[in-house]
Amino acid sequence: MDVADVLAASKHCIVFTGAGISAESGVPTFRGPGGLWERYRPEELATPEAFARDPELVWRWYKWRQEVVYNARPNPGHMAIAELEALGVVKAVVTQNVDGLHQRAGSRRVVELHGSLWRTRCAKCGAVYKLERPVDEVPPRCGKCGGLLRPDVVWFGEPLPRGAWNEAVELARISDVVLVVGTSGVVYPAAYIPHIAKEGGAVVIEINVEPSALTPMADYFVRGRAGEVLPQIAEGVKKRLRTR
Ligand code: NAD
Repeated sequence: MDVADVLAASKHCIVFTGAGISAESGVPTFRGPGGLWERYRPEELATPEAFARDPELVWRWYKWRQEVVYNARPNPGHMAIAELEALGVVKAVVTQNVDGLHQRAGSRRVVELHGSLWRTRCAKCGAVYKLERPVDEVPPRCGKCGGLLRPDVVWFGEPLPRGAWNEAVELARISDVVLVVGTSGVVYPAAYIPHIAKEGGAVVIEINVEPSALTPMADYFVRGRAGEVLPQIAEGVKKRLRTR
């Protein structure tokens, strides 16, 4: 059996993605080159401590990230995943990404484990705001109480949103195939998701340009760029579904 056979025969396939799926859209991964921001480590900016110390610096980084994503488009990897969902093969995407590119590609059931760049949350009163475009002023302020707004994302050391986590665990438990794409698999608890699926008997297929921390537990490892490999796999799945 090859990967397309496994997917075409699956009953409940989920996709687990990380920053690598968006790399070909021009959105830097945390380990890739970040231009202007290369001299900062994400671990020094994506923390509650960094925000308390220097909210303007943290917001300048997030505004830059929002602008990069705003000017980016979903790539053929995102599109192939959305197509597999439309075909009824993929049931949901569980993502560590905060960029919203899966939704823009047409994926309907997307569980965001680490929040979204496209929401802010008041650090004082908790009000949540949706964003259509990057913030103007940094740091932005709450329209209700005047408090500091923060990006509605999960920072290092913070718990995951309970609803998203529970949904992802449930999806992993009932899945028979998990397609792991573009993640280094070192950020926990998110990286438990493929392990939970595997413990429940799921077949793990990984796509990455290089081996990751999850490769040892993968049943299939496809080395390559998500934007090239995923459309080929989707084509293979379509062929198999047609000849059934
Ligand atoms: P990571 O930066 O730790 O790892 C990226 C992985 O993608 C690596 O294993 C790399 O080999 C792989 N990769 C790079 N280009 C690829 C390609 N074209 N095709 C396939 N694989 C490719 O990212 P992570 O594992 O997601 O963990 C970092 C944390 O930071 C996560 O929470 C992540 O979501 C967040 N983050 C999100 C974004 C985003 O929303 N786009 C960007 C950067 C970081």
